[in-house]
Amino acid sequence: MSLFDTLMSRSHSKCELCASTTELSVYEIPPVTKVNENTALIVCGTCKTQIENPNNLDVNHWRALNESMWSEFAPVQVMAFRMLTLLNAESWARDLLEQLYLDESLLEWAKAGLPEEEEIDSSAPTLDSNGTRLLEGDSVTLIKDLEVKGGGFTAKRGTLVKNITLTNNPKHIEGRVNGIQIVLVANFLKKA
Ligand SMILES: [Zn+2]
Repeated sequence: MSLFDTLMSRSHSKCELCASTTELSVYEIPPVTKVNENTALIVCGTCKTQIENPNNLDVNHWRALNESMWSEFAPVQVMAFRMLTLLNAESWARDLLEQLYLDESLLEWAKAGLPEEEEIDSSAPTLDSNGTRLLEGDSVTLIKDLEVKGGGFTAKRGTLVKNITLTNNPKHIEGRVNGIQIVLVANFLKKA
């Protein structure tokens, strides 16, 4: 049996992170040393794109981790840990992360794949692309087009986002674009 077939049978032909059945493929969890069913999982097209572009996460898509993090399979647990860590601006993600227990070796593996572990100084000010301080409730505009994965649209450069919410990460804010609450990178915004 190919690795794909083995994993498809384990996953019941569903994305192991969100249970979607579209565009399924094998995702080899980096850093890849040896590829087998213990280091890979089945992901859908949406999860794969988001995993590869972690700066542009569709927060709501990942709420499915709420269920998939309880998988008995290590690769699923490790990816759930990584995605929840990337989403830690969200209180629900922090809550789930607290409940997700990984043994020491899995934890080490899970952390190894995260973008360089930057210390998040939550007391630092949130600054826009010009270095202007952003405050809770401010309005901002996008300074570049932003593809909202899962939302199925692109928010154009210049889009106004009103009444932003600060997060505990000074590099991220939250706001509503086309009715969808998303995390935005402060660097790509300008205070309106
Ligand atoms: Zn998925």
